[in-house]
Amino acid sequence: MPTVYDKSGLGLGDRVASEVIKWYEKPHGLDDKGLKLFRNARPKADEYSILAAIVEVGSGQVLDGRKRQKVEKIRVLSMATGLKVVPSKKLADISKGRMLHDMHAEVLAMRVFNWMILKEVEEMENGDRTMDKREDLDSSLLARCENGKYRLKDEAGALALYISDIPCGDASIENIREGCSGQADWEEGEGDGLLRGRGYFGSVGKVRTKPGRKDSPISYSKSCSDKLCLKQFTSLLSSDTYDLIDESHMGQFYLRYVILPHEKIREEGIERCFYGRFAKDLKQHERLGKALRVVKVIPTDMESPGYTLSTNAEKAPSALAMIYCCRGLVQVLNKGVRNGCSAKKLIKRDSRSEICRESMQQLAQRLRPERFQGLKTYSEFKSGVHDLRMIRNDAKEMLGNWTQSSDDDFVLGE
Ligand SMILES: [Zn+2]
Repeated sequence: MPTVYDKSGLGLGDRVASEVIKWYEKPHGLDDKGLKLFRNARPKADEYSILAAIVEVGSGQVLDGRKRQKVEKIRVLSMATGLKVVPSKKLADISKGRMLHDMHAEVLAMRVFNWMILKEVEEMENGDRTMDKREDLDSSLLARCENGKYRLKDEAGALALYISDIPCGDASIENIREGCSGQADWEEGEGDGLLRGRGYFGSVGKVRTKPGRKDSPISYSKSCSDKLCLKQFTSLLSSDTYDLIDESHMGQFYLRYVILPHEKIREEGIERCFYGRFAKDLKQHERLGKALRVVKVIPTDMESPGYTLSTNAEKAPSALAMIYCCRGLVQVLNKGVRNGCSAKKLIKRDSRSEICRESMQQLAQRLRPERFQGLKTYSEFKSGVHDLRMIRNDAKEMLGNWTQSSDDDFVLGE
């Protein structure tokens, strides 16, 4: 039985976290306007948020100046802050693929990672990126295979996700119990049907929705614990990017490490969430067993900047989310759309984020128009990505209680 938590990874965990925090303090590849936007989106002194980033842990070694030893080259690919969700009712009424349902930092960072893949393929195929320029060569993540599909350029590299707090849902139930004052949201017992984020702590190993106050309009979006658990079967790739990647290199696109703050890790919750809760069911699901790549959760003792990037009872959660990619993307989001835009009526094109469903789909369609021929809606396209769909559906069924999320379908354009 694989163990998920690996305390011996502390050194790597600290190196990844310190690189992420360094980039958070001084992001690369932004012009003055982008830099200003990035800095203004940081939580204020009386607010908190969560920070997450996808990084590449390279196979090549670089010299760590401080310790005078050789260490892995770590590169931050995508980064996000945020901890809000849009209520499901709102999404169904006005989104049409243009709102971000889930603005939890780790989910946004994974979306930005897929955006980066689409963007890089576009640049390579349009010839915007000349492979003989040394700078471009260093910064590209992907390489083209003979069959026209892509792989990670660094064959032996690994992808890792840093999060400044334990993901919401099953992995953090023990933390919530410890922090629970006795009245708020506490309910003993099993709970049945849909488990809302913070209710029924007595029930562990279950799929939950995003946390939210009991009196808040419900979001059916699943917790980050559950979404990350699912990625162990499907990789980080989305319907938009899956078919661009060479099948024999699919394994590169799974998360190998998840880096979490040491003092908050509760081993029981981590082992259960990422393996224990489905271990006994795997025997009946041969396909899932083959697809599974269990993550290694490793700790870090690095503190996130200003103590503002983790749950904090004395501060208010920031309404803003921020997304960033080293390829020059920075956007501030509020209520599922770009900050400053209205989210009250049908969402306008200009209000949408670069990483909303519609924007990403359109980018994918420009790259491979043939994949969309004859299709009418986005959901038709998604069901057409068969391998990914099958694994996702099987994994959801095995985890159980994975209720339908909100409907955010839209008609495909030309
Ligand atoms: Zn979350």
